[in-house]
Amino acid sequence: MRYAEVSVNSPVAQRRTFSYAIPQDLIIDVGQAVWAPFGEKLLQGIVLELIPFPAVEETREIAGTIDPHPLLSPAQVSLTRWISEYYLSPLFDAVALMLPPGFERRVVTFVSIPSIPDGFDLSSLTTKQKHALELIRRPGKANLKQLEKTLGKKETRAVVSQLVRQGLAVRNYELESVKVKPKIETYLQLAVDIDEARQEATKSREKRTTKQANLLDFLAEQHEPVPLAEARKRTKCNKAIVDALVNKGLVTVQQIEVRRDPLSYNKGIAPSYPLSLTAAQESAFRSIQSSLQEVAEEHISPPVFLLHGVTGSGKTEIYLQALAETVRLGKRGIVLVPEIALTPQTIERFASRFPNKVAILHSKLSLGEQFDEWRRIKNGEFDVVIGPRSAIFAPQPDLGLIVIDEEHEWTYKQHDQSPRYHTRDVAIKLAGLTGAVVVLGSATPDVETFYHAQRGDYRLLQLPERVVPRENAPLPQVTIVDLREELKAGNRSLFSRSLAQAIEKVLTNREQAILFLNRRGAATSIQCRNCGYVLRCNRCEVTLTYHLAEDNLVCHQCNYRIPVPQICPQCLSRRIKYLGVGTQKLEQEASYAFPQARLLRWDSDVTKGKHSHQEILNRFRSQEADILIGTQMVAKGLDLPQVTLVGVVSADTGLNLPDFRAGERTFQLLSQVAGRAGRGPSGGEAIFQTYSPEHYAIQAAAQHDYTLFYDKEIAYRRQLHNPPFTRLASLIYTHTNDAHCQKEAERMKRRIIEERDARGIADLSLIGPAPAFIHRLRGRFRWQLVLRGSELSAFLSQIPIPQGWTVDIDPVGV
Ligand code: ADP
Ligand code: ZN
Ligand code: ZN
Repeated sequence: MRYAEVSVNSPVAQRRTFSYAIPQDLIIDVGQAVWAPFGEKLLQGIVLELIPFPAVEETREIAGTIDPHPLLSPAQVSLTRWISEYYLSPLFDAVALMLPPGFERRVVTFVSIPSIPDGFDLSSLTTKQKHALELIRRPGKANLKQLEKTLGKKETRAVVSQLVRQGLAVRNYELESVKVKPKIETYLQLAVDIDEARQEATKSREKRTTKQANLLDFLAEQHEPVPLAEARKRTKCNKAIVDALVNKGLVTVQQIEVRRDPLSYNKGIAPSYPLSLTAAQESAFRSIQSSLQEVAEEHISPPVFLLHGVTGSGKTEIYLQALAETVRLGKRGIVLVPEIALTPQTIERFASRFPNKVAILHSKLSLGEQFDEWRRIKNGEFDVVIGPRSAIFAPQPDLGLIVIDEEHEWTYKQHDQSPRYHTRDVAIKLAGLTGAVVVLGSATPDVETFYHAQRGDYRLLQLPERVVPRENAPLPQVTIVDLREELKAGNRSLFSRSLAQAIEKVLTNREQAILFLNRRGAATSIQCRNCGYVLRCNRCEVTLTYHLAEDNLVCHQCNYRIPVPQICPQCLSRRIKYLGVGTQKLEQEASYAFPQARLLRWDSDVTKGKHSHQEILNRFRSQEADILIGTQMVAKGLDLPQVTLVGVVSADTGLNLPDFRAGERTFQLLSQVAGRAGRGPSGGEAIFQTYSPEHYAIQAAAQHDYTLFYDKEIAYRRQLHNPPFTRLASLIYTHTNDAHCQKEAERMKRRIIEERDARGIADLSLIGPAPAFIHRLRGRFRWQLVLRGSELSAFLSQIPIPQGWTVDIDPVGV
C-alpha cells in the first residue's frame, strides 16, 4: 500500500494535509487532482506528497482521479506549501491559485448500473428498488439530484445505498461543467445573390448613395457572413446605411455566437525586431544574458536583478531581448505587469516580438477562455505568458525568466483575500525552485527592493537616461509651487498662478495637459491653510485621521483621540481646513477657470464600463480633449506625446496618510505622473502644488533624484525601525459590536505577549490594539494589532487564531 498527503478543498482543512491510501489500481503522482472522501462528502484534493507510511493509523482510500495528469508541477507543489506557511493561509487557498480556472466547481454525483451480476435475482428487490433501478438503467446513468426530485431526497439516498451495497449500482463523480458565457456578435450577409447585389450597387452609385454601394460591393466579395464591426471599419458605413439596405431586403443581420480567441491579439500584428541597444541598455542586457547562460549551464544559482531605469529609458526593450535569449536557451518566460498597464499597446509590443507565442491572461477573459489558455500554456504552446499578479501561477513549463515590470506597484500585493501574498516574493521563491532568473524593473524601485540591491542580495542594473523622444532626452522640468504663498497673495482657487498660466499656454499652443489629483483613502486629514501644519499624533508621528461619525481626530497607531481644534496649534490661525477635494470638484473648477478648454475626466467613477479605459485614452490621444483630469490612473505608463504639461493639483494628499510608507508612495506617484510630460518632440514641464514644498519626497521627485529620496527614506526607516529593518504583520479583527471587537483585540494582544515572553523572543513588539484605518466597514467594526519582528509567520503559526481575525504578513498599508 502506498499513501498520499492530500490538500483537501474544505474550510476545516486549514494549513494541513490529510493522509489517504492509494488504491492498487490507481496511478497517482504529486500534483494530481483526486477525489478525497472527507466525512460524508467527497471533496477535491491535490496530492502534495507520496509517502510510504501514513501520518495517522486509520486512512481512507482516494476515490479516484479527477484529471489523468498532474495539474501542479513539483515546484508549484513546494510553492503552495511555502505560501501557506509564510502567509498563514489555508493550504487549499494556495493550491487553488495554481489550478485551472474554474476548477473549483461543484461535484455532480451520478449513479449507474454497469451490469447485473449473473444469477442475481431481481425479484428479490423491493418495489422502490426496482423503480429506482429502472430510472437509472433506461438512460444508462442518472444524476443523483434528478433522482431525488423524482423519488424524494431521503428515499433516493436509502435506495441508492442499498443498490450499491448489493453490487448493482455504482456512484460516479464528475465536476459540473464550466459555464462559458457565450459571446454574441452581429454579422452581415447579402440577402440576394452576388449579381443582383452588384446591380443594386451600380444603381445606388447613380443615386449618389455611395456608401450603400460600397457596403454592397464589399459584401459581394465575401463568401461568408462578415462581422458588422469589420464591415464598418472597411467601408466606413454606419447603422443608418445598414438599416437602409436591410429595409430594401438586400442585406440580412444575424446574431452569431462566437468563440473569442484571446490570441486574436496576435493576429494582424506586424512582427517587430530587436532594436540596437544604447550603451547603457547593452551593458544591462549583457549582465542578464550571461546569467541566463550560466544558469542554463548550471554554473550558478539564478540571481535577481533590479533594473532601475527612469521612465522611457528602454527597460521594456531589455525585457524583450532577455526573453528572446531565454527562448534561445530552450526556456520560457513569465512577464508580470500591473493590470492597468495591460493595454493593447503593451500587449502589441510583446506579441509582435514573439508572433503567436504570447499568451495573455487578464480578468476580462471569460472563465472558459481562461481555462483554454491555461491548458495551452501547460502544453507548452507559448514562449511568453503576460498577465497581472496572478499570472505568476500560470503553468508555464521550463521557466527560465520572470520579469516583474513596475515592481514597486502596490497592486502586486494581494490584500483583500487569502492568501495575502506578495507577487514579488512569490516570484523570487518560484524562481529559486525552478532555476529561473528574475528581473524586477522600475523607475522608482520599492525602498525594500533597492535596499536588497544595495546590500548585494539583488544585482543592480541602471539606465539613468531616457531614450525617447531621443537618446539622453531630458526629463521634464518640474516647478514646485508653495500654496501658502498663493493664499497670502489672495489666490484661493485650486490653480496657482503658475499652473493657470501654464494651462493657458498649453491651450494657446493647442497642446495637451494632464491634471492629476490623487484622492485616495476614505478618511481625510486636517491642515492649517495658513502655515501648512498637519495635525499629527505626538506619540506616533503619524497623521491624525478625521472621523466624521464622532467628529474626532484619531491616531490609527495608538488610538489617541482629540477633538478637531478651532485654531492651529502652530500659528494660531483659525483657517483649519479639511483636505479632500475630489476629481469631480476639480473638473468643475477647471471648467470655470478655463471655459474654452475641452475637459475629459478619468477616474474609477467613470471607468466602470468594460472598454472605457481604452475609450477615454483614445479620445484623449486623438485630441478630442485638451485637458485630462484624473486620479492615479493617469500616472501609470501612458505614452502621450502631445502632453506638454502635467499639473499636480495637490502633491500632499498621499503624504498625510497614516502610513510609514506615505513618503515612498508620494515619491513614486509624483515621479510617475511627472514622467507623463514631455514624451514628444515639444518637450514638457510639470508643476507640483504643495503646502510642504520642503518635504524630501516632493523635492526628490521634482529633481528626478531617486538617490536623494532613498537616502532620506532609508535613514527614517532605520531610525523608526520599519521595514526593511524589521518585518510587520497586521492582525485585524472584525465584529458588528465595537466593544466586543476591542475586547477580543486586547485578549489577542495578551495571548501574543504571553507566548512571546514564554519563548523569550526579544525582538518582537506590538502596536495597538487601535481602530483599523477604516474603522467600520460594511457595518462591521475593525480593530488592528501590528506586530514587528523577524520570524513572524513561524511565531504566529503557534498561536490559535479564532474566526473573525485576518492575518496579513508584510502588509502594504498599515
Ligand atoms: P521604459 O520601459 O523604460 O519606460 P521603453 O522600453 O518603453 O521604456 O522605451 C521607450 C521608447 O523608446 C519605446 O518607444 C521604445 O521603442 C524606444 N526604445 C527603447 N530602446 C530603444 C533603442 N535602443 N533604440 C531606439 N528606440 C528605443
Ligand atoms: Zn497654522
Ligand atoms: Zn499615536
